[in-house]
Amino acid sequence: MDNRPAGPGITVARNVAELRRAIASWRKGGESVALVPTMGALHAGHLALVARARTLAARTVASIFVNPTQFGPREDLSRYPRDPAGDMAKLAAAGCDLVFMPAVAEMYPEGFSARIEPGPIGELLEGRFRPGHFAGVATVVAKLFAQAQPDVALFGEKDYQQLQVIRRLVRDLDIPVRIEGVPTVREADGLALSSRNAYLSPAERRIAPKLHVTLAEVARRARQGEPEAAARGIEALLHAGFAKVDYIEICDAETLGPPVTGRKARVLAAAWLGATRLIDNLAVEPA
Ligand code: AMP
Repeated sequence: MDNRPAGPGITVARNVAELRRAIASWRKGGESVALVPTMGALHAGHLALVARARTLAARTVASIFVNPTQFGPREDLSRYPRDPAGDMAKLAAAGCDLVFMPAVAEMYPEGFSARIEPGPIGELLEGRFRPGHFAGVATVVAKLFAQAQPDVALFGEKDYQQLQVIRRLVRDLDIPVRIEGVPTVREADGLALSSRNAYLSPAERRIAPKLHVTLAEVARRARQGEPEAAARGIEALLHAGFAKVDYIEICDAETLGPPVTGRKARVLAAAWLGATRLIDNLAVEPA
């Protein structure tokens, strides 16, 4: 029986000491802890991670930190959507126990210089278009793991390469955290929920679901062994009104290297609608 209040009773930790104090008190009572790292501007996709977390651990911590080191110099750090009050209300209603909202200076104090380089898996796909992005992600996630020391951490399949980078990271560095991937939450028309969807104009929003439709078609063709599956997908997106397609690639689902017969494959894509860059992915095998 879960007696915890699913209301405004959420605790906010603004620094590592407060976070550790709250978690230590739970640990003393023998409770397990799940961590859901986010950059805020929360939507139903993030809340699906919280819901899943609550089934896996006694306590759920969500972090909200717009991590500057994972944004490139020409990316959207300064205009990234922020809604701390709305986020806290959503997390409280979702039954999250604590929200960790550190300031940039708490995470990267004067003199900070360490950096975790995830290696080749972080240089493919997104890594080609966003150099240094996954080093920023791996470094901040490793810090969050060291700060919260959760039993389990949840990441969305929406950011599939990120999920695989984190899986590799915890294996390579023997970090004692179980990583759980959560299926992508979509709008009724198939568009993957994303904080960046807020940037889309009404006309762009009408075109956006074509990304998911196209990936489903590419996955179907890839299953049938069609060698031009990805190239046909790129053509379809450009035809639909996407300004540019950074990539559509069919990859090994774990290493994200070239697909290997007999192993699971995944199709991943990034494409621009006007000034907004959307990413999405699907299993090549039907779920
Ligand atoms: P973000 O705030 O965009 O960094 O995302 C925080 C976490 O939520 C990441 O693990 C994302 O993969 C996950 N996430 C974002 N959008 C979705 C979605 N539509 N469905 C499932 N998980 C998502």
